[in-house]
Amino acid sequence: MTAKKKVMLLPGDGIGQEVTAQVRRIIAWMEEAGVASFELSEGLIGGASIDAHGVPLTDETVAACLAADAVLMGAVGGPKWDNVPFDKKPERGLLRIRKDMGLFANLRPAIVFEELAEASTLKRDVVAGLDIMIVRELTGGIYFGQPRGIETLENGDRKGFNTLVYTTPEIRRIGKVAFDLAVKRGKRVTSVDKANVLESTILWREEMEVVAKEYPDVALSHLYVDNAAMQLVRNPKQFDVMVTTNMFGDILSDCAAMLTGSLGMLPSASLGAADANGKRNALYEPVHGSAPDIAGQDLANPLAMILSLAMMLRYSFDLDAAADRLENAVKATLAEGIRTGDIMQPGATKVGTKGMGDAVLKHLANA
Ligand code: NAD
Repeated sequence: MTAKKKVMLLPGDGIGQEVTAQVRRIIAWMEEAGVASFELSEGLIGGASIDAHGVPLTDETVAACLAADAVLMGAVGGPKWDNVPFDKKPERGLLRIRKDMGLFANLRPAIVFEELAEASTLKRDVVAGLDIMIVRELTGGIYFGQPRGIETLENGDRKGFNTLVYTTPEIRRIGKVAFDLAVKRGKRVTSVDKANVLESTILWREEMEVVAKEYPDVALSHLYVDNAAMQLVRNPKQFDVMVTTNMFGDILSDCAAMLTGSLGMLPSASLGAADANGKRNALYEPVHGSAPDIAGQDLANPLAMILSLAMMLRYSFDLDAAADRLENAVKATLAEGIRTGDIMQPGATKVGTKGMGDAVLKHLANA
């Protein structure tokens, strides 16, 4: 039995609540089976927090997240809160928690399970067995750079502008995250930039080369972002770890997500800087939103959330065997032909959110 892991659950809104319920069952099973030991706390975020406290995230919840070893979040948002003021919207809670936890590295794996290869819009042989990790810089670059704004010029024309800025420490710390991941995976990093046009990404490329010197066993290559987008749909299996800027990562990670064909299957992690003891703030969440169209109907696929838990076990707690076991239980569930509506295929057995949780728990116990 390992030491107690402090986990903060933020179910959020809509299907966030339903998929979190399945993860709670899996955590309870792991506890009972002696796989790992958790100290769970729970908080409100998004619309649920607006209803209870008038704001999408309270200072107390932020403090509890900072005190935890890892945070596992569902999703936020929904039509009920469409008309609240912009700075009180459920999504502001998400932005605030990312900012307050200093989460600068966003990890988005794109994995195509053999059984779901037909769900992609790309040909089976292009995507079957795909396993890439996109590492996106999350707190810098053009989304945050100053100066920014919209100004009216003397002649009356209006000018909109943003600044793409990266510093050496910002590039090196995201580079290290990518190389550390590559060491545990296929030992290849592809850094994506636009160094033929943008000075800030000339620096990005140079600094990635500096980081690479610390990792002699990892091969570094560089791609311009336009070529990277093309290669992602032409031959995605050539990649292991891709690392890139905030905006390029925003776009490429959604493109990679669609290679897998199903939003309900995609987990993610966002990591902060390691402290002197090697502890990092970390938030794990499915890529999908709160899906108001199917919320409360036992229709949501909980696998993205369950796979986010597996990422938490692997990256926050170094519980690789437990993460493998959980991921294998998901694979076995898919191999058995169990499907929620979003990934339904002819001849498969359709289940709801809870039924999918039951099936994963059954395979976990049998693993
Ligand atoms: P969404 O991801 O919630 O839903 C898009 C479509 O995919 C819907 O048809 C939905 O039914 C389906 N879907 C999503 N997850 C699914 C799952 N696990 N199982 C089965 N089907 C699933 O995106 P949206 O509709 O654009 O946004 C809805 C709300 O969620 C909005 O308020 C938006 O702001 C919010 N949102 C939150 C996050 C987040 O919390 N990280 C991310 C995206 C959107």
